[in-house]
Amino acid sequence: MSRYALIPDQVWDGLSERPQPDKAVIVEGDLITSVIDSARVPPDVDRVSLPGCTLLPGLIDAHVHFCDWMRPAFLAAGVTTIRDVGNDLAFILERRRFAQTHPRQSPRILCCGPLLDGPTAHWPLMGRAHADRVAMEASVESLVEHRVDAIKLYVNITAEQMAGAASVSHRHGLHLLAHLGGITAPDAATMGVDEVEHLTGCAAAWKTSAVEELDALCDVLLTHGMVMCPTLVVWDRIGRVCEPAFPHDRRLVWVHPDFREAWRHYPWRHADPINRLNLQRSVVEMKRCLARMQERDLSIITGSDTPFPYLIPGFSLHDELALMVDAGLKPLDALRAATSQAARVLRVDGVVGTVEPGKQADLLAVHGDPTADITAIANVAQVVKQGVLLKPDALRRLARRLHAKSPDDPVSRDILGYIEKNR
Ligand SMILES: [Zn+2]
Repeated sequence: MSRYALIPDQVWDGLSERPQPDKAVIVEGDLITSVIDSARVPPDVDRVSLPGCTLLPGLIDAHVHFCDWMRPAFLAAGVTTIRDVGNDLAFILERRRFAQTHPRQSPRILCCGPLLDGPTAHWPLMGRAHADRVAMEASVESLVEHRVDAIKLYVNITAEQMAGAASVSHRHGLHLLAHLGGITAPDAATMGVDEVEHLTGCAAAWKTSAVEELDALCDVLLTHGMVMCPTLVVWDRIGRVCEPAFPHDRRLVWVHPDFREAWRHYPWRHADPINRLNLQRSVVEMKRCLARMQERDLSIITGSDTPFPYLIPGFSLHDELALMVDAGLKPLDALRAATSQAARVLRVDGVVGTVEPGKQADLLAVHGDPTADITAIANVAQVVKQGVLLKPDALRRLARRLHAKSPDDPVSRDILGYIEKNR
């Protein structure tokens, strides 16, 4: 079994108020076995020097619709765990299995199965329609049998169906999250939804609201222990889909060419400009709301919603962190949302999310100090997955191989089909 020491300038464990200087992390096989003073690394242990670097837990993207071509991108960006929140069930279960045995080729995957929608399914392949409450409850029961990690509800769900989904999910101890449509976040909280995506159902977050209105929203959500996965970055990208810098982003090399092309024709580009301008304005208000949610101590986790336009898998999580800090969160709070806090909500905190003995060696070393300057999170120097030191060349080769074939997975077909139909 391989044993080595990672020796950065400092280690941030995913929880603490500040990084610890002059520490080394000892890795054996796929585990972190100890965190010691770097001066005390035994001479017989291989040394991996990371000068000028901060070592921290691998990042977690809690809102992804997974496609095969994304695997090397996530790893290259230091995103070592993802939660898929809407996909074809058989497809994503197979990819979750593959990830367990291929640490060099895939992030760790958690999944919800399909988006559980109301009488009509908004997305034909990622989603599943349900005529009534009975059908919804049967769907949740069958997902429990397939051992999904959480249940995801979608926009057209009725209140009746939501109540049914909540009772079955909670009977089996499963976490329930929702992209809300007609139902408000306070109502969803009352019905037992555990997590809201994209600040949907939070009317006060989308308009200029007095702090009292934001607090009234926070009060209800706090009472029910609601988790927020704001995905500011997807709203920012859709609102600014005409931004001329986006098609020139050099990180696009990690994106399948069919998506790079399709994003240039995303329907919002040609829609009435007022829609984009209103969304841009709402993003400003969402940032205000998120800052207040953090002050009020709501549980916040990071997600991107890749592959919606210009959300480069993995790298868009760096952008999400930067947007959170722009909103007024401290870099440490944003980083906790992407590591220890996300791991707790995803119920993998016994495995990942912190740099501690006994945890999986899923780690990220970046040049500089992201706890002081969040943009340093993008200065990836080394990614470690289940103890394996990943090589950038191997990830680039894997990306080229995956980009060489047309993407035929369910999410790619749904999203590329939607863009093609509406361009
Ligand atoms: Zn989504």
